[in-house]
Amino acid sequence: MSRYDNMTYLRCGKSGLKLPLISLGGWHNFETPDRARELTLKAWDMGITHFDFANNYGPPPGSAEINFGHLMKSDLAAHRDELIISSKAGYHMWAGPYGEWGSRKYLTASLNQSLKRLQVDYVDIFYSHRFDPDTPLDETMGALSQAVREGKALYAGISSYPAKAVKKAAKIMEGLGTPLVINQSSYNILDRWIEGKVLEETADAGLGMIVFCPLAQGLLTDRYLKGIPHDSRAASPTGFLKSDRVTPKLVSVLQELNSIAASRGQTLARMALGWILKDPRICSLLIGASRPQQIEDCVAVRNDAPFTDEELQNIETILAKLNPPATSVTPVEAAVQSTTKSTAKKLIKLKPLTKPSNKQAI
Ligand code: NDP
Repeated sequence: MSRYDNMTYLRCGKSGLKLPLISLGGWHNFETPDRARELTLKAWDMGITHFDFANNYGPPPGSAEINFGHLMKSDLAAHRDELIISSKAGYHMWAGPYGEWGSRKYLTASLNQSLKRLQVDYVDIFYSHRFDPDTPLDETMGALSQAVREGKALYAGISSYPAKAVKKAAKIMEGLGTPLVINQSSYNILDRWIEGKVLEETADAGLGMIVFCPLAQGLLTDRYLKGIPHDSRAASPTGFLKSDRVTPKLVSVLQELNSIAASRGQTLARMALGWILKDPRICSLLIGASRPQQIEDCVAVRNDAPFTDEELQNIETILAKLNPPATSVTPVEAAVQSTTKSTAKKLIKLKPLTKPSNKQAI
């Protein structure tokens, strides 16, 4: 039995690209070579062929790509053609006016740097990591298109773009003969901002939707059912998941969700992943993990039963106990969407808000 028998592969939009149901990201836990290796090889053994990075993943920024790059020269050296490696540029990476956002200068330089760190000739997917309200979209898309034409990326994608920008970006790339294939956005039981327009525009444009933070950075797992474990992300002094997010009310809601998961014979993490997969427009769930067993648990979602209407309704009833409601944003999404808000206003020709400066790695 090969690793590929353990995994389901879904078509990414209307493209020829197939992605594993579960993909692994290096935003967290790839900052040390040993853990990066342990997680990557576990994922690879389980049929996970897609590994997602960005220029600034670390800390320090770039270290996640460097550690994965070592693996491309060692354990994975013979497997380049079996892997989908992605990178992104958009957030702050270096000092000065060319170290973030969406100019051709920044995107091109950043991709060249990422290729060196990853020790590959090309990435499979290169993303514009966030919409830039001040750079013409034609320029940002032109840089992605150029990357594809130069063979430095096989496919182009966008991340956390507001709905109207998804539509415009897809049209520009179509016109350039290098169509966008994928949109990467946050989505989970507690964060629903893409429901409606973003998912609709993404599917209408023929793009696949890969979902990041499907476990709300670990909140939608058994990690926080009894408070905050010392080795969890919320206990870490760095990062977007702050301990004050783990309120008694949230914990009580998570415990109730966990009871539904238990009645379905699955972990809360698997239930949270399965809940997303009920939408056929989703082509991959981009998880993070701090230990190999978590990857194993997440991959098991592919064998779980679909939800009954009653279970889905019960989940909504439990979520309604949260105030603010579940559809409000979590800190990471708020950071991502701080761009989105100004952008949305600009797109509908209202006065744009001040462009946020976000130097934290997303
Ligand atoms: P998740 O929502 O999957 O959270 C991952 C965390 O959940 C883990 O670190 C772990 O927490 C916990 N966990 C995972 N599986 C289990 C399990 N089975 N049981 C118990 N706990 C579990 O995703 P991330 O927030 O890590 O993001 C995933 C990827 O998405 C990133 O690496 C990146 O590639 C991408 N991303 C993209 C963004 C963008 O702007 N495009 C922004 C953010 C992320 P713990 O560490 O506490 O054990």
